[in-house]
Amino acid sequence: MLTAKNLCKFYRRHAVEVRVLNGLNLEVRTGEFLSIVGASGSGKSTLLHLLGTLDAPDAGEVRLDGARIDNLPGRARDALRNRTFGYIFQFYHLLPELSLLDNVLMPAYIGHSVLSWWQTRAQWRRRATDLVAKVGLSHRIKHRPRELSGGEMQRTAIARALLMNPRILLADEPTGNLDAAAGSEIVRLLREINREERVTIVMVTHNLDIVAATDRVVRMVNGVVTEDTSAGEKPWQPPFPQPRLAAV
Ligand code: ADP
Ligand code: MG
Repeated sequence: MLTAKNLCKFYRRHAVEVRVLNGLNLEVRTGEFLSIVGASGSGKSTLLHLLGTLDAPDAGEVRLDGARIDNLPGRARDALRNRTFGYIFQFYHLLPELSLLDNVLMPAYIGHSVLSWWQTRAQWRRRATDLVAKVGLSHRIKHRPRELSGGEMQRTAIARALLMNPRILLADEPTGNLDAAAGSEIVRLLREINREERVTIVMVTHNLDIVAATDRVVRMVNGVVTEDTSAGEKPWQPPFPQPRLAAV
């Protein structure tokens, strides 16, 4: 579904070239919950940004359903970021002045013209309210981010990531700022979303405790994927039939 081929990313620091990704190959399979593990600094965030078109590779390519997405022009890339991918970050990136509900609605504000937003806002509000219920935060819907716990902020970010009915969730250390209990609750929620909403998930983490719940684990070392714990196991099967839920 989503593939990285020969992906390279270099940074120059004081005339020294740091090779963060060095010919990395990866295949993300439709419907799976994949974890990518690796030490801090091993390039996990860089890889996730390239997979989600938040950054461009120096060489190699990223393909979605066989078509290149790493070199799309601005407008097509923006649509992909808004509709196809959902992003979840370690530090939530919620807007502090907005209520929980308005934070969840943000991708719909961004993805519509003023007119089409006014025409469809009641549907979006319903969907956002349903998602807030799904992540267990109906009782906090008018609260601001600062009034929420870390786990609640991350659940808000997950609802926001799901609003546009994305095909792929990209989660960068989603439990990195949470205690063990809140972290395992987040992974349990992602597992449920993967199964029930039929969303493919790529989760990056350096926490080996949380990857047990996922379908497959790959490891990054020296800018390449070096290990695939699914090797030797039975062939992977999609956990559910396609297609996904209808969009709003
Ligand atoms: P991880 O997420 O696995 O901790 P990153 O992808 O964030 O790793 O970073 C990999 C390496 O690339 C690190 O050595 C980091 O310092 C370097 N790096 C990341 N972003 C930049 C940047 N914008 N400029 C220079 N170096 C960077
Ligand atoms: Mg990182």
